[in-house]
Amino acid sequence: MTAQPVDILLTNATVVTMNPKKDVIFAGAIAINKDTIIEVGPATALNKKYQAAKTIDCRGDIVSPGLVNAHTHVPMTLLRGLSDDLRLDVWLYGFMMPVEREFVTPEFSYLGTLLASAEMIRSGITTFCDMYYFEDQVAEAAAKAGMRAICGQTILKFPSPDASSYDDSLEYCRQFVKKWRGHPLIVPAVAPHAPYTATPEMLTACAALALEYDVPLHIHVAETAMEQENNKTEHGATVVPWLQKHNIFKPKTIAAHCVHLDDTEMITLKNTGTGVAHCPSSNLKLASGVAPVHKMLKLGLRVGIGTDGPASNNDLDMLEETRLAAFLQKGIFADPTLLPAKKAWELATSGGAEAIHMGHLIGSLETGKKADIIVINVKGTHQTPRFSHSEDTIYSQLVYAAKSTDVCHVLINGRLLMEDSALLTLDEADLHQKAIAMSEKIDTFIRTREKDLLSKLLAISSGVVPVETFEIQSKVRIDDIAAIEAKLGELNAVTINRTSVRKQYDTYFCFEDKTLGRIRYREDELTANDGTPDVLYRISLIGPAVERVFNHSIILTRSRYSVPADKSRRFYYEYFQPDQKIEIAKTRKRYHITFRNTHFAANLDSLADIGRSYLEVKSRTWSAKDAEEKAQLMGELFLLLGIDPSQKETLTEYIDLAQE
Ligand SMILES: [Zn+2]
Repeated sequence: MTAQPVDILLTNATVVTMNPKKDVIFAGAIAINKDTIIEVGPATALNKKYQAAKTIDCRGDIVSPGLVNAHTHVPMTLLRGLSDDLRLDVWLYGFMMPVEREFVTPEFSYLGTLLASAEMIRSGITTFCDMYYFEDQVAEAAAKAGMRAICGQTILKFPSPDASSYDDSLEYCRQFVKKWRGHPLIVPAVAPHAPYTATPEMLTACAALALEYDVPLHIHVAETAMEQENNKTEHGATVVPWLQKHNIFKPKTIAAHCVHLDDTEMITLKNTGTGVAHCPSSNLKLASGVAPVHKMLKLGLRVGIGTDGPASNNDLDMLEETRLAAFLQKGIFADPTLLPAKKAWELATSGGAEAIHMGHLIGSLETGKKADIIVINVKGTHQTPRFSHSEDTIYSQLVYAAKSTDVCHVLINGRLLMEDSALLTLDEADLHQKAIAMSEKIDTFIRTREKDLLSKLLAISSGVVPVETFEIQSKVRIDDIAAIEAKLGELNAVTINRTSVRKQYDTYFCFEDKTLGRIRYREDELTANDGTPDVLYRISLIGPAVERVFNHSIILTRSRYSVPADKSRRFYYEYFQPDQKIEIAKTRKRYHITFRNTHFAANLDSLADIGRSYLEVKSRTWSAKDAEEKAQLMGELFLLLGIDPSQKETLTEYIDLAQE
């Protein structure tokens, strides 16, 4: 009988098949033709049976299915280490998203993916499940590198680097899906970023699109406890039931993170066949928590392991991730028997393939499966010695001792992408050079932004352009608010247009460099006639004041940029990193008045904390001449109200009181 020709024969290997029986073949071999595994068996038999165009002698090393990175954002290799040690919202809204708006282009996604591919191939990853912008270029680059990937086009409710609206991104996604469907390496997917960056209509539309083309849907789910809390407040339900209501689990869905799920939510994920991508490094680094993976596995969920994006990890090392996944379950849940090495390796290979709905194609070394195979050198000092009394020792070695640098050969779809640790499809030196050039541009952007509070404010204003206003004002201490109110009502020269009563809680963020100005976070609680409070939140940059003493009044002119504050006070504090924080609470009776044909706001403020009251008169202004005319009028108004500013304590800002 003549030997059957095949393209590649991997021989003299310890074959860790990860098939349903978890067979390990010592002195085994694998025959590959084109993109497919033809046979897996003892080397003696296969060596005779097949005549290979290329034979790789594995010298006793371990051959395993390639690793499946179940959740990542690969172009973010270019943002690796940009900003760390921050809370998720500050990291995301303060750094990642502003830099992405500025720098993420099709070229960025392409370059970032090539760099990531080099790193992933080196660490034994053969398939990755991605979510990013310009996913068309992610797909192009992955295909060029020869990697298998699920490429999820991100859809957000607000403008993103590749779409000005959600309708645009949905249409872009549709075209993207149509273009890549049926590709041998690339599976296009629909990726609504997360429940908190989506609207209900958007989620329903995303699910419909994924179902229409029978492609996966990739989404972040219950990454933080805050996400669950906010979802309950806003939608009256925990995240999973709310997503289910909008059909999110009807397609082949991959849910990343799932750190904070209750039992009912886990059962929903199981019943809908949803895959979970567990991302231990990212969850630890951003202090999101630890997903109860052992519980998910007990309930029968499909779980894989993901690195998450390299900006929150900061690398794409699946061996490190798998080891950490195993350790975390043991350490956090105080039980060393949880997630044993064999199970952990399963999550990284066949389990991951199931979680991303590709178990029929990849994840194990079996006849008919795609030839996505890695060879791991087991002869390093850190792997010596080895035991063979039980097959479990092989998994211990893989999960607890092997390093990504031990991966020596990588095949994807039957094509050799790395041989003896040399990459065959990518020019690493060229990629390094281009990535460094990109980091220099981003460095310059950040440096410029950090010098200037307005640029920092603009960076997080989600497209809202702050309005600059100039004002003049004068503050005088008064003894009796009621007396001033009575006078305002009596004066013929004064017309009261309208009044309001509000409670204002101001937090000032101050900086040692006074020329920067200061940031004010204001919680403005307006009490309506029926007694119901209406609270407005604003964040303002108040420029350095120019003071002029004029007609016995101190007149202040300064610029102010103001936008609605859609994030928490804690967020702004951590984002702006002031040198000092000052809080001022006051009750403000505001009179909008006309005096000598000029509009003024007369604020009667009582600062209960220090037991003082002030009259603040202010007006917007446009020019130096206008300011001077208004100053004159303000002096007159004070005298009519029976206040001689020169006899009283005057003040430019309330924070001066707090600093006393
Ligand atoms: Zn992610």
